[in-house]
Amino acid sequence: MKTFTYERANTPAQAAAAAARTPGAMFIAGGTNLLDLMKLQIEKPAHLIDVNHLGLDKVESTPEGGLRLGALVRNTDLATHVDVRRDYGVLSRALLAGASGQLRNMATTAGNLLQRTRCPYFYDTNQPCNKREPGSGCSAIGGFSRHHAVIGGSEACIATHPSDMAVALRVLDASVETIKPDGSARVIPIADFYRAPGSTPHLETFLEQGELITAVTLPKPVGGTQIYRKVRDRASYAFALVSVAAVVQPDGTGCVAMGGVAHKPWRDERADQQMTLGARAVSDTLFTGATPTQENAFKVVLAQRTIAAVMAEGRN
Ligand code: SF4
Repeated sequence: MKTFTYERANTPAQAAAAAARTPGAMFIAGGTNLLDLMKLQIEKPAHLIDVNHLGLDKVESTPEGGLRLGALVRNTDLATHVDVRRDYGVLSRALLAGASGQLRNMATTAGNLLQRTRCPYFYDTNQPCNKREPGSGCSAIGGFSRHHAVIGGSEACIATHPSDMAVALRVLDASVETIKPDGSARVIPIADFYRAPGSTPHLETFLEQGELITAVTLPKPVGGTQIYRKVRDRASYAFALVSVAAVVQPDGTGCVAMGGVAHKPWRDERADQQMTLGARAVSDTLFTGATPTQENAFKVVLAQRTIAAVMAEGRN
């Protein structure tokens, strides 16, 4: 691991300002992904800003009838929060489908959104990877790509986003609250939070240098049957081949988002309009323009079947 300097921030504004003025600075909270990346020298921050003591660890009601999830709420606490379990079951289920109990005890809401891909070439510093080393090439294209994206990728990168939580947040129409180094705040709909890989896959979100996530807000509950189904190679502690987050209303309407298929939680509101027509219609709309590799073409079929299972469960 490379040496680095460390400071503990006392306020969100102070943390953001420090990150903007210090070259090579990064925030650290739970550290469940960042520390691994530092040990492998994939991330080499010159300075770490500890944001664990900013008081952003509360789940609160909003005046609009929704919930405000502090950026530092641990995944375990969020998954088991009484309001989340009652009104946003898809979020609780997605969180519990991720990682392990120990990791969920440390991982935070903001860190979960910002975790890096688990593409094996990203972690192998002997292999070209445009996300780790811009311009070096993509080893997954033409290589081992069973776990990679089938839609939304580019000629530079076909990595998937690993978060389960983000898929549930996408189907719930969550928003991300931030503070910038100049002290101003902004709200980013989760639909607009992640960048397409394009020719710059090392840039994954639209956050600016030093911009700190302070919370995630959920609109008021939409009811319905809320389901998160994750299909993976083993029953626990594995990333999704495909996952489906769904809200299904008694009349069969609803909405669907998918994980494991793209660089971000994958949702197309036009597919939601097909919910009463069946899983094939939903899937065909979601995967219009898909460009799977030979190794991961099965994901498109698996996604359709998983959507069908979720829709059937939602109607029962
Ligand atoms: Fe790197 Fe993306 Fe290619 Fe994986 S898919 S090797 S993360 S550029």
